Amino acid sequence: MIAVTILGATGTIGVNTLDVLARHPQLYRPLALTANQDVDGLFGQCCQWHPDYAVMADADAAERLRQKLAAEGSSTTVLAGVDGLTRVAALPEVDCVMAAIVGAAGLLPTLAAVRAGKRVLLANKEALVMSGELLIAAAEKHQAVLLPIDSEHNAIFQCLPDEQRHDMGAAGMRRVLLTSSGGPFRTFPPEQLANVTPEQACAHPNWVMGRKISVDSATMMNKGLEVIEACHLFAITAEQIEVVVHPQSVIHSMVEYIDGSVLAQMATPDMRVPIAHALAWPERITSGADNLDVFALAQLTFEKADEQRFPCLRLAYSAAREGGTAPAILNAANEVAVAAFLAGSLPFTAIADVVEMTTQQLSSEAAVDIETVIAADLQARRTAESILPALARQL
Ligand code: NDP
Ligand code: MG
Repeated sequence: MIAVTILGATGTIGVNTLDVLARHPQLYRPLALTANQDVDGLFGQCCQWHPDYAVMADADAAERLRQKLAAEGSSTTVLAGVDGLTRVAALPEVDCVMAAIVGAAGLLPTLAAVRAGKRVLLANKEALVMSGELLIAAAEKHQAVLLPIDSEHNAIFQCLPDEQRHDMGAAGMRRVLLTSSGGPFRTFPPEQLANVTPEQACAHPNWVMGRKISVDSATMMNKGLEVIEACHLFAITAEQIEVVVHPQSVIHSMVEYIDGSVLAQMATPDMRVPIAHALAWPERITSGADNLDVFALAQLTFEKADEQRFPCLRLAYSAAREGGTAPAILNAANEVAVAAFLAGSLPFTAIADVVEMTTQQLSSEAAVDIETVIAADLQARRTAESILPALARQL
């Protein structure tokens, strides 16, 4: 039995992970489940799965969960806060950790899993964007196995030879073609983008995802974060990555080799595919996803990404080139701006402005340790917050 901790169990990735585990009860056991504030969601999962531990990041929510579970006579131990999250990420009896908390909040629990030498299924791209070099170095030092859940990175992983995954030259790899659906506003009239609502931004054409990543997909910041993510995971530079807009989301990314071969991974757009892949790697298990019906595919199309329409992509490439704490600053400003947009107080097009102004006001430094990264994150949040009022939606 493989014991699994799911950080962010109540989220889209968490729920999909439990769906895959439910198909293989003889192989996997969820040992710890975590959430932030969704007491009812985590309570329901605890009643179904009876994990040893349940953690709520929010202390009041943890208390409510504790009372509800006690009333059911549950034997699940309830923990709270970042301490609780890092503890269940590093428990000696845990084999595998799904890191699926959204945003910078996932950094310390993910790092705890890496430092404990776990098999880490990495969905929480913000953690890698913020502290890529440190996280990769910690994984090597503590012999943690990092397996990408982001569909594009999982695809790249599958298209690379096992032995040379971090040595592009030895693998004979020329570049990565990182695919993107283009999001809900790929063909939207640009002059109307300032007025789009959170509901429009979260209505992704091909994927059902949490609200933050849905907005990131609509601005294409998601693809920008993924460029930085790929640099760290596969030891490549931003120049070796080309973003390819592929609206059907059937090819999840491609790797081009020096002999002209291009390998692609294809599947129906369903996150259970990369989740099942990473859970079982190097073996395979069923995921529950529909088989890809190649005969039903009318066409596969590819376009260049439009950096005019999606300035976040340009900003992310520039942070990737700069390195150090620049990606952490970019990420923090984006989290603040996206939260303001989702709260209805910032126009969609101002998300990129907040990020650009924050990155212009702050200078990056070498990301020597995790404290430096966290300090850069906090400073960028404060700077972004101070910029918000000037750009706020006039109500
Ligand atoms: P959701 O918003 O659906 O879920 C987020 C999860 O994190 C929830 O369990 C939430 O708990 C928890 N959480 C939120 N804030 C905190 C916090 N401060 N402390 C602790 N836990 C917290 O997000 P997704 O599942 O869509 O995405 C999760 C991660 O995976 C993101 O980094 C995203 O970029 C990445 N990803 C997602 C994909 C997808 O298809 N959804 C695809 C590729 C990557 P609660 O429910 O209580 O709020
Ligand atoms: Mg992705």
